[in-house]
Amino acid sequence: MNSIKDIWRTLKCLPFAVLVHDSKTRNYKANNQALKLFNLEQGDDLCANHFGHIKLISPLSKKPLLLQNLFDVYLIPNVLNNVVLEINETAFLLNIKFAYITETVSMITFEIEKHKIDEQYNFDVVISNISADLIDIQNDNVDGHINYALKAIGTVCHADRSYLFKFNDENTQMSNTHEWVNKGIVPFKDSLQDVPKSELPYFFKLMNDTYLFKVNDVSDLPASAGGEKKEFELQKIKSVLCIGLSYEKELVGFIGCDCVAEKREWTNLDLIRIKLVGEILTNAFKNINYKQKLELAQQQLITANQKLSELVNTDGLTTIANRRCFDKTFEDEIQRCVRYQQPISLIICDIDFFKKYNDSYGHQKGDEALKYVAETLQNLCKRPGDLAARYGGEEFAIILPCTDSENANCFSTLIQNDIARLNIEHNQSDVSKQLTLSIGFYSVIPNTKTRAKDIISKADAALYDAKESGRNKISEYSPK
Ligand code: GH3
Ligand code: MG
Ligand code: MG
Repeated sequence: MNSIKDIWRTLKCLPFAVLVHDSKTRNYKANNQALKLFNLEQGDDLCANHFGHIKLISPLSKKPLLLQNLFDVYLIPNVLNNVVLEINETAFLLNIKFAYITETVSMITFEIEKHKIDEQYNFDVVISNISADLIDIQNDNVDGHINYALKAIGTVCHADRSYLFKFNDENTQMSNTHEWVNKGIVPFKDSLQDVPKSELPYFFKLMNDTYLFKVNDVSDLPASAGGEKKEFELQKIKSVLCIGLSYEKELVGFIGCDCVAEKREWTNLDLIRIKLVGEILTNAFKNINYKQKLELAQQQLITANQKLSELVNTDGLTTIANRRCFDKTFEDEIQRCVRYQQPISLIICDIDFFKKYNDSYGHQKGDEALKYVAETLQNLCKRPGDLAARYGGEEFAIILPCTDSENANCFSTLIQNDIARLNIEHNQSDVSKQLTLSIGFYSVIPNTKTRAKDIISKADAALYDAKESGRNKISEYSPK
């Protein structure tokens, strides 16, 4: 900043606050007015850290600004002529101007437009901020805004404590969900959880009837308000003002302010302001509730859809994939093997002499046997792309992507062994004393011309061969 030493000598004498920033060295300089305005201890060699305590709010935007960000030139023109500076509990409306001194050195001047801007202006800013943010259903910083609103209402009503209470679903207890306290005031939020409403009958009678509880002097409460008086005295409350929050015509909670240090004659303006904040919060709760219901309904719909798609793709008796699922999966897997130039194998198997099995053991036993066979085939499909499906009555198909004929043959042998291990008695079978399968398979490296139905008919032809050659056999497709 050496190059602008001379300019700074002039700038710092300007009759209003001036900050100069060198974006190369990241250094700031502040003149005497700026030191006073921003409560800074030194004027030279300042860095961004020195401005941490300064709170600026744009009346137009909702979020607080960092002073150092004002030097971001994109923020400045038109949009940000005014900012509200909150410092040491007072607020100023500042008129700011930005200028480049060199390519890297810029300056901002701050002229106080309104000394200690009035409460109403400050409150309007707060209200416009929280109402917009709380109405936004996407906003997930609801707690932050409630705390901000409570602080605003507490400050503007000259209270020492402000709070939000919500009732439980059964409407029997209340809990303090948010609280703001003035400096030196004891917070009570943690000890005010799940308080039975029956402990404060006087309070709730008034609340239910008028949605308002306004007490200028706690010591004036009638004898019938014994419980309330005790509670207020315990918290050293001298004056209290609460208004009810309703949702669908039901009282769901309340917000309120306490005065601890001094009594307060609550004004109509206090009442209007607290009512306004109450309405904004109620609206926000409606939105949250609506959003939660919407999310729940969406989740239920997703779950229902998942169930439906499972049902549509599952065979009712055996619970493995059905023909519909087989058809879709087979097309997809063929395409995948075309892309990666990998072989694909299809196994089709059919229970031997199953008509005789039904005739001998009954249809119900037949169903049971089908389930065991299906489960066995399913358990053999261990890789992600493998799929066992019920293809027809007592006929099953197994898709094996990235599997050549040698491995398909091995897989078929595993099927044969595992079915034998099931050891389902079938004394009417011409081929064995137990239930057996005939297995046909076909393996191919598919190309874009390969059709699913051609692979199926070749595996089917192989199955026919296995049947023809005596059943309980494995047969690979071979052209005749
Ligand atoms: P093959 O060795 O030539 O295959 O003889 P098979 O008796 O198994 O063949 P066929 O096609 O003559 O008979 C199939 C039998 O499978 C007839 C049918 O009752 C039975 N079946 C098909 N679906 C079911 C089912 O869901 N449950 C039961 N229990 N039986 C079924
Ligand atoms: Mg059969
Ligand atoms: Mg059959």
